[in-house]
Amino acid sequence: RSTTMIIMKFGGTSLGTVESIENVFRIVRDRIDRDPVLVVSAHQGVTNSLVEIARTAPGGDADVSMIEDLHHRLLNGLDLPVDLLDEQLGEMADLVRGMKLVSEASPRVRDLLLSFGERCSVRVLAAYFNQQGLRAQAVDAFEVGLRTDGNFGRARPVADDSRIAENIGKVEGIPILTGFLGRDAEGNITTLGRNGSDYSAALFGNALDAEEIQIWTDVDGVMTADPRLVEGARPIPIMSFAEASELAYYGGKVLHPATILPAMEKSIPVRVLNTHSADNPGTVILPVYEESGAVVRAVVHKNDIHLITLVSPPMLQQHGFLAKVFRIAEAHEVDVDLVATSEVSITMTADRADHLPAFCEELGELGDVSVEPDHALICVVGQGIAHTRGIAAQV
Ligand code: ADP
Ligand code: ASP
Ligand code: MG
Repeated sequence: RSTTMIIMKFGGTSLGTVESIENVFRIVRDRIDRDPVLVVSAHQGVTNSLVEIARTAPGGDADVSMIEDLHHRLLNGLDLPVDLLDEQLGEMADLVRGMKLVSEASPRVRDLLLSFGERCSVRVLAAYFNQQGLRAQAVDAFEVGLRTDGNFGRARPVADDSRIAENIGKVEGIPILTGFLGRDAEGNITTLGRNGSDYSAALFGNALDAEEIQIWTDVDGVMTADPRLVEGARPIPIMSFAEASELAYYGGKVLHPATILPAMEKSIPVRVLNTHSADNPGTVILPVYEESGAVVRAVVHKNDIHLITLVSPPMLQQHGFLAKVFRIAEAHEVDVDLVATSEVSITMTADRADHLPAFCEELGELGDVSVEPDHALICVVGQGIAHTRGIAAQV
């Protein structure tokens, strides 16, 4: 593969209907001279359905027929062989039957189940590209060396040893890679967390030294606020890596929070583009850019935030008190977003509701702990805010 290749990631919203898939094909065909490598999500709605199946299967009433129907409808609409996905859909149905039988859905089995979304979509896309005369090959990321830890449901990649580039180099035609998925040291399939295909795209971009990473979605780029909530939200033409990572981390749902890191490491520009309006310039995210115009770039939010307060008078004369608090957070895998401290107390926010009871119990050994659920975190993003007077007052 050439050193000027680009990564093109298409999200589920770009793959939901026959028309969208035809559109994706045209977009890729028009950029064929840039030697694209595709990374794709499951078709719209599939991962949500699989999550629901994983939740209900142990109780015995999960139904895979809607997943089967959805794929069959797309195969029909695209004039592809209707048995194209028999192997994947068959394995999926067997797995769900097994989950019902043993009344269990361990995190490992749940990730295996979720993997079928992307394993099907890459095959649909590759078959359609070949039918249209563009040579393409479906590739499972876990087969070409995207390795992760064994933290099912939110796995983190482990260092790549150039095997990804080597394996993808052998692919004939356009590689169409599964987003969202990896494999741990024991050989289990893992997932990178919801929206993880953005992250996959950046990991592949890094491994292949891509010239650019394109995230194709259903809006005109990264916007000044969530367009589903804020009428008049506008696309942001250009952002820095620092701004984009803050925006993603604090809830801007257009990018997975870890996406920017692998791109930043190799200074690969990330472009967010609209599949339904391909000529729109979208947003480009660059290592640095000359600031101009508005200091405040975007307002993002995160729901379901817990406010945890630890009051501990002995904190007053103790060294290393905060270190203790954060060691406990680390042990319970609680990501602390914001922290405020006084002489006798520390207040922090976190969103891992499932891990909080154990975390708070251990924290209780240091002082009195109280937890307030149902908060939201609102983040005003802009690299110039720190050195522009008066923004906080205006906010
Ligand atoms: P995809 O299937 O392409 O991954 P997602 O649904 O994961 O799509 O992400 C795109 C959606 O993110 C948009 O449709 C938009 O409604 C939402 N969104 C939330 N916050 C923002 C933001 N600040 N800028 C752009 N889109 C946002
Ligand atoms: N299909 C996965 C999800 O819905 C990954 C992705 O779309 O990025 O979360
Ligand atoms: Mg997404």
